[in-house]
Amino acid sequence: MARLGNLKSRKAVIETCLAMNASGINQGTSGNVSLRSDKGFLITASGVPYDAMTPDQVVEMDLDGGYYGEWAPSSEWRMHLDIYRSRPEAQAIVHTHSTHATALSCLRKDIPPFHYMIAVAGGADLRCADYATFGTKELSENMLRALEGRKACLLANHGTICFGPNLAKALWLAIEVEALCHQYFLACEAGEPILLDPAEMARVLDKFSTYGKQDAEALAKAQASGEAPVKRD
Ligand code: 13P
Ligand code: ZN
Repeated sequence: MARLGNLKSRKAVIETCLAMNASGINQGTSGNVSLRSDKGFLITASGVPYDAMTPDQVVEMDLDGGYYGEWAPSSEWRMHLDIYRSRPEAQAIVHTHSTHATALSCLRKDIPPFHYMIAVAGGADLRCADYATFGTKELSENMLRALEGRKACLLANHGTICFGPNLAKALWLAIEVEALCHQYFLACEAGEPILLDPAEMARVLDKFSTYGKQDAEALAKAQASGEAPVKRD
């Protein structure tokens, strides 16, 4: 057998799957994970339990939809392929069936700005892609529309998909989306959540453009608006 390339990256994909299930946002062989590579991307094989997955069961695919090796890639390879083809900023993708996000996806509605953290998905709401059967081109097309200007969305009667600049951040976003859906679910059970208005969400999105960045420019901007403390010598 030919020497297995990208061993470190393949192991990182498996580690992310294990962390995804250990975090409670996924169950069994549901969901899938991928990472951009030189040829295209590395993606989990279809239906293989993550705790038994070996590096050769992380399948390399090219950006024309071809795959290499003995194992068939995830049934959702097309969603991953379409994200890598159309969103150059996407380096890693996590698809999960996390409980609250999946429950809300069955309502087939976008999640409105009930909390400012909804901006982590990239805009003023978290969209829900129209329903299509799992593993289909139609599902991927619906997903791409829901991801316009966003890096996460719900998939109707199915789950969520999120991408990021690396595996850790894509997984973090998937966990955050589940937390937001859980919060929204609880708020709706308790009453009718008061939504943040478009002007407030625009302000939040502007603050998010510098949030957590420890660089001088971001800090100067926050200091100029009086929101960051003045640094003493
Ligand atoms: P795979 O095991 O083929 O990745 O399928 C899991 C899944 O979530 C399908 O939507
Ligand atoms: Zn799925």
